[in-house]
Amino acid sequence: MPLTDITRDAVLQAIAEYDALGQDAFLRTHGFQRALSHDLVHNGRTYDSTAICGVAHKYATGRLLRASEFSGGAATVGRKLGALGFEVRSTPGIPWAWDELILACDLLARHGWTPLDTSRPEVIELSGILRRLPLHPRDRRPANFRSPSSVRLKMANIRNWREGNTNKKTNGSALDRDIHRAFVEAPERMHAAAKRIREGVLSGELAGLPPLEEAEEEVSALEGLLLARIHYARERSRGLRTRKIRQTRAQGRPIACEACGFDFAEAYGDRGDGYIEVHHIVPLHHIGESETRLEDLALLCANCHRMVHVSTPWLTVDRLSALVAEQRTNKA
Ligand SMILES: [Zn+2]
Ligand SMILES: [Zn+2]
Repeated sequence: MPLTDITRDAVLQAIAEYDALGQDAFLRTHGFQRALSHDLVHNGRTYDSTAICGVAHKYATGRLLRASEFSGGAATVGRKLGALGFEVRSTPGIPWAWDELILACDLLARHGWTPLDTSRPEVIELSGILRRLPLHPRDRRPANFRSPSSVRLKMANIRNWREGNTNKKTNGSALDRDIHRAFVEAPERMHAAAKRIREGVLSGELAGLPPLEEAEEEVSALEGLLLARIHYARERSRGLRTRKIRQTRAQGRPIACEACGFDFAEAYGDRGDGYIEVHHIVPLHHIGESETRLEDLALLCANCHRMVHVSTPWLTVDRLSALVAEQRTNKA
């Protein structure tokens, strides 16, 4: 097998060269891409195991082993480096979150469902945006986190769900199938969501949002968790809520749930007086395009508000009212 000639000394020389050049220059010089699955760990630093092996071969035999001449991975590179006494750690990819899939599928669909090459500026830009999303803790990300190669691979995985696709199936997850379906069934909504997420990243708005509370993390939304966070941040704004309640009172309307009519003061007396939750009615893919207006807020009791958000798609207030009315009629 091609790796037989590599020695421990040769690997150490390759590591020294890697340290001297830095990762990018090392990979570029020798024609390697960032390894997607395995890191060599040496003196607390991580190295692309495949590239190290290729270059170590050069130190051992005088000839560089090109990426195309051997396969990286646990069975080859991992075993060889392990046998030479090195530590090889598999870098379990962090599963793609729905929000990330929205961005990848958006790019894929905008290019006729053909995965773009890793050298394309759109792919490099998307890789940068994915690294800025406040979704996965930075200290748990591998060096190649959401690299252009992994972006391309993800696009290929999604593309494989297209009907009539004859390309070889790559490993994909059920979420790849779901995101493909979402873009086929609601393209405008999904592209709009992608646009909003991008804007939120580039403006810094998403990075500044408070983390979701535990109960909210169960919330699912077709437009993803990040836009849902904006939704919740607006609903939690005390100022907006107070102004909405004041306006409702000024209009002579009761502070009661717009879906079921529940009135906290009626049920709980003074303790419940003036209590109500506000729900932001603007669809998620439009959220944040402008300042929230009081007309964008609906008054809901805590139960009804939870029912709106409990599953995808979120219900409109009208739909929820109809549902409550329907249940009441059924019972009567
Ligand atoms: Zn209610
Ligand atoms: Zn809400």
